[in-house]
Amino acid sequence: MAVLKDKFGRQITYLRLAITDRCNLRCTYCMPAHGIDIVDRKELLTYKEMYRITRVLSVLGVNKVRLTGGEPFVRKDFIHFLESLSFNDHLEEINITTNGALIAKHIAKLEELGINAINLSIDTLKAVKFKQITRRDLFKETMQTLDKLLASSLKIKLNVVVIPDVNTDELIDFVELTKNKNLSVRFIEEMPFNGVGLRKTDEVWNMDKIYAKIEKGYKNIIPLKNKKSSTSRNFKIDGYQGSFGIIPAFTRTICNDCNRIRITATGMFKNCLFDDGVFNLRDFIRKGASDEELKKLFISTVQQKPENGFVAEANRKNKDISESMSTIGG
Ligand code: SAM
Repeated sequence: MAVLKDKFGRQITYLRLAITDRCNLRCTYCMPAHGIDIVDRKELLTYKEMYRITRVLSVLGVNKVRLTGGEPFVRKDFIHFLESLSFNDHLEEINITTNGALIAKHIAKLEELGINAINLSIDTLKAVKFKQITRRDLFKETMQTLDKLLASSLKIKLNVVVIPDVNTDELIDFVELTKNKNLSVRFIEEMPFNGVGLRKTDEVWNMDKIYAKIEKGYKNIIPLKNKKSSTSRNFKIDGYQGSFGIIPAFTRTICNDCNRIRITATGMFKNCLFDDGVFNLRDFIRKGASDEELKKLFISTVQQKPENGFVAEANRKNKDISESMSTIGG
């Protein structure tokens, strides 16, 4: 069977697929207050197109899919799409990244469909600050989702973007959540994908700085063995039920074992978060491409995967990194 391997011998087994570019929040680190220029609906991949792309990729060895956005649950009929995807028996894991505000009522269904894990994005444990960060008043709904997730069989990871001078005082509070709860908190380095570009006056909290801050609070941090393609460096506090990790998203020290590709909501194929897109699948499919042609395209496009995120950034046609993560699919 043909598999997707890049020229560095890395096998691609993981697809991150953006369901939409729309979002119900307006997080300050992701987009400006007025939002982003969302595309016309007909420019978005249809569910049928997403299903087909995923099926062809899964025949080539992709066994894990993460559905993201935008906010995946704002797109109509997302649950039906999940249902059809769950019939693809090449897929070992279907995971979802969500802000959680709309999903409390769907949790039983997600369990029934065999969804593996939910990454819930929440950057503060304080209601007032939540509203400042997200520019929306949905803290109660998000916390309700967290409680329901904790009572479910789904694996839970909390995504916390570390925002200088905003939530760096809460890192220990987040680690404390892992004391009696079976979840993994992952601190993410902030990236300039915010719809306007890097805010140069801000200091970036990198992995070392995040770790140093947490280390001040504990004497008993145990490093955990990282899975080969893990994006986070993982730890746990001795005796705590859950764990925590740090994702060096901006300093990019994790690229060596990368096993992933991305497809944006408009069908742009990305070999790396930091490239500016290598191929538009939507147009290729809409011109009548066959499954065989799609397979060939995937095999050859993955060959161009850059060694790491710095090479990807240097190769960009548009040198300015300023897209919103909501457009890219976070
Ligand atoms: N709406 C969903 C959510 O909030 O989880 C999925 C899409 S969101 C773009 C995916 C992830 O990207 C979230 O965890 C979010 O916090 C993260 N993210 C967005 N902008 C970011 C940035 N500039 N730097 C680092 N992470 C970012």
